[in-house]
Amino acid sequence: MSATLIDGKARAAALRIEIAGDVARLARAPGLAVVLVGEDPASAVYVRSKGKACREAGMLSFEHRLPAGATQAALLALVGQLNADPAVDGILVQLPLPSQIDADAVIAAIDPDKDVDGFHPVNAGRLATGLAGFVPCTPYGCLMLLKDVHESLAGLDAVVIGRSNIVGKPMAQLLIAESATVTVAHSKTRDLPALCRRADILVAAVGRPEMVRGPWVKPGATVIDVGINRVDGKLVGDVAFDEVAAVAGAITPVPGGVGPMTIACLLRNTLLSAQRRQGAAA
Ligand code: NAD
Repeated sequence: MSATLIDGKARAAALRIEIAGDVARLARAPGLAVVLVGEDPASAVYVRSKGKACREAGMLSFEHRLPAGATQAALLALVGQLNADPAVDGILVQLPLPSQIDADAVIAAIDPDKDVDGFHPVNAGRLATGLAGFVPCTPYGCLMLLKDVHESLAGLDAVVIGRSNIVGKPMAQLLIAESATVTVAHSKTRDLPALCRRADILVAAVGRPEMVRGPWVKPGATVIDVGINRVDGKLVGDVAFDEVAAVAGAITPVPGGVGPMTIACLLRNTLLSAQRRQGAAA
């Protein structure tokens, strides 16, 4: 391997210590409400680890569980209650939701100023227009890792593979704001390997195990692997790590790369919300 390993775990740990310091300076502990509908085991793990990270940073974690058969009306009523609760600075509804619930309607019901996931259309619009809001946690974590590697992203060619609302699109917005030249690739893109080979920065957010191969990567490029895929009980990313690490300049591992940054950035958004709200109240 010739690439530098980007240690997201260590970076996230440092960020969480910084956040805990800022939390301790607030008059009131920030509160994050996490809502889980149903028993999806992966979602339950995420919710538990978010709660634990919150408490470790000195924040309050309010966990709300609804049964798998809960109605949309019941979930919207809970969101309304959390919107109005002054102890709640951030609201996160764990996705995916059961099929009887319209996820878009639920996201739209969250107060944009408590939307610490950054999924509300108002926050997507703020990001696109350069206004202060909440930025989705995973792409923001990726940006932090990129900025540790590159002093400036201005003028660099960036390719983002994936155009989801939660990763690909906000990642592209963040890179545009850093003055990178951004191309977003997706399932209909022609000749993806050739496109990727132009990239100084390559972000893979697809959900296909080891799709990005060594010959797709420009020598010296920085490769951020967002993918989380379970293969034979093991976690693998969207990037064929060994092959790509032999060509890239820097690369994130899976696990231990982007994943830990996502939770740290969720804490960061919750802190920001509490700071804004307490500042406004003072
Ligand atoms: P998604 O399914 O919503 O989007 C996947 C995107 O990949 C789509 O835009 C699609 O057009 C594109 N795509 C599919 N097949 C393709 C192909 N053959 N070539 C090019 N593009 C193709 O997924 P998502 O929610 O954006 O998540 C992507 C991956 O990132 C998943 O593995 C997910 O588990 C992971 N993820 C990780 C974190 C983290 O914290 N590390 C957070 C969110 C998502």
